[in-house]
Amino acid sequence: MNAPREAFANNVIEALQAQADEFIAVRRDIHKHPEMGYKEYRTSDLVAEQLQKWGYQVTRGLGGTGVVGQLRRGDGPRTLGLRADMDALPIEEATGLPHASCHAGIMHACGHDGHTAMLLAAAKHIAAHVQFSGTLNLIFQPAEEGLGGAKKMMEDGLFTQFPCDAVFAMHNMPGHPQGHLVLRDGPMMASSDYVTITLDGKGGHGAMPHQAADPVVAGSAIVLGLQSIVARNVDPQETAVITVGAFNAGVANNVIPQTATLSLSVRALNPQVRELLEKRITELAHAQAQSYGVRAQVEYKRGYPVLVNHMSETDFARHVAEELVGAQRVTRQGKALTGSEDFAFFLEKVPGCYLLIGNGTGEGAGHGACMVHNPGYDFNDENVAVGSAYWSLLVERFLKD
Ligand SMILES: [Zn+2]
Ligand SMILES: [Zn+2]
Repeated sequence: MNAPREAFANNVIEALQAQADEFIAVRRDIHKHPEMGYKEYRTSDLVAEQLQKWGYQVTRGLGGTGVVGQLRRGDGPRTLGLRADMDALPIEEATGLPHASCHAGIMHACGHDGHTAMLLAAAKHIAAHVQFSGTLNLIFQPAEEGLGGAKKMMEDGLFTQFPCDAVFAMHNMPGHPQGHLVLRDGPMMASSDYVTITLDGKGGHGAMPHQAADPVVAGSAIVLGLQSIVARNVDPQETAVITVGAFNAGVANNVIPQTATLSLSVRALNPQVRELLEKRITELAHAQAQSYGVRAQVEYKRGYPVLVNHMSETDFARHVAEELVGAQRVTRQGKALTGSEDFAFFLEKVPGCYLLIGNGTGEGAGHGACMVHNPGYDFNDENVAVGSAYWSLLVERFLKD
């Protein structure tokens, strides 16, 4: 059963509802033709073509397939950036929907098709109907899923070519009622680091362990020891996650292998905790290995930083949310999430806010609570109107003339 459709009494939403069908079709078209990070060729063509048609000055090539659409009006000095992501995931879709992916093994399972459609719908409405004075930059980024497209766009000069006083982004979130908006100031999404621990021991006969240095036993001790970092080193009031997602060693029951490899995912919601985790994981891996007579090599790769929403921009985004959907549909200070998001790089440079829009609570493919990155997930098309109305109202309020 799907949740009943939300009734939103707001004239901006009504205006965007009137053109929603056009952009629901765009959303489904993008969904049907998903593209992996940095390969969003068809999607970025579509985005650029539409923006141009509505009078935006379009710049391509930042971050490879990134697109920026700029609209300047009046002589207002304020500059604003709104961001949508365009990439899909390496997942085989299992929704069975008519607009399901036609590319085997690739799927819009995170709703970036919807984020792109919401921002395009807003772009059309803003160009035709919204009064403002200043500069609006619509940023369509590639490769959010692990490949850091946001960072790449910055390295290619995003904020020097298109300075922004503030940036905003919106992500759908299953499990929250459709169209409800969730905000949070301070840390909202976790940092995400990758660690590979390689243990070098001495292989030997399984019957004669005393003549070997067993990396499996050492690795096992490290797996257990790592849990004590979260339990004993991190402040209990803070958040930390250490997951050993892979432990590879050996092939036969009677052979002690020469090496073992552990792969870790490490998350934190506070940059200081992130530092502490890196220090303790490295120390513990070396010390434990040494105590078992094997050698550890630790490769610590930093992924996305902690996403920290800025106080005054979040407050502004909250007011816009309450004006649009009413206070009863706004969570003013939601929970932080241990997922990560490369919009965090933007927020290290430019103040702003990342918020969530509820994807619904209904069950079954195509709507609601099915979590992102699941083969049964689909973006809730009812949000095309609400999300684009949110962007339109935010532009009107931020760049008011
Ligand atoms: Zn995702
Ligand atoms: Zn996503």
